[in-house]
Amino acid sequence: MLNWLTHLAIILQSNDCVFCQQATRSLTGICDVCSEQLPRMFPRSYQHVLLSHAPQFAAHMLKRQRLCISVWRYRQSIRWLLNRYKEGGNSHWSRLLALQLSAQIIFAYRYHGLALPDCLVAMPCTESDWLQRGFHPAGLITYECGRLLNIEVVKRGLYWIKRVEKQKRVGRQQRWLNRLDAIRATRALSDRSIAVIDDICTTGASLCAASEAVYRVGACTVDVWSLAYNPRQSRSDTSLLDLSALE
Ligand SMILES: [Zn+2]
Repeated sequence: MLNWLTHLAIILQSNDCVFCQQATRSLTGICDVCSEQLPRMFPRSYQHVLLSHAPQFAAHMLKRQRLCISVWRYRQSIRWLLNRYKEGGNSHWSRLLALQLSAQIIFAYRYHGLALPDCLVAMPCTESDWLQRGFHPAGLITYECGRLLNIEVVKRGLYWIKRVEKQKRVGRQQRWLNRLDAIRATRALSDRSIAVIDDICTTGASLCAASEAVYRVGACTVDVWSLAYNPRQSRSDTSLLDLSALE
């Protein structure tokens, strides 16, 4: 039904770009002009960049993740897009965001010569976030990616077992410590290859906690996918050079 309505909207040219509000024939919901200006990442794993910023004790866990892939860098346009999706009542944007993520995933797996994973699982959201937003942003993206890529989705596969402070209020080391051991998996995933999906990857701490939870229930490999990577480096940080090479 939604597909049919989208096609009708395109025929009538009332399918507006989410950024500039101009009518577009693009099925992605982002017109070609706006799409070219987005800070798209090269479709390749940036695990080495996460590793260069992680505290020593977390390195072995990050190395256990096979691929870390994002669609965009978390710059102003993407911050606006994801903020409007999560906080602005635009849960229907999950479809266009999942289209972007799925396309990036196909390119990235082709680049690395790997097969797509067996199952997808969403990063869990807290009950208070769910009550505030009325939906689970990463959950909807995961559901849509499963549909688009024809991969099984493990519904409510992960849950938080303790409260963690919002990332902004705590330091880098503390962010890792708070999250380690904070997530559990709800069912066995023996010998399955899994991708954990979140909206934003900052230090990789939350995604690492999720992938460790999935490994504990028997997963053979874990990849982490997100819409945006937010590196948050200082200006003097030379690894920004690594990052610019990713785009
Ligand atoms: Zn546009």
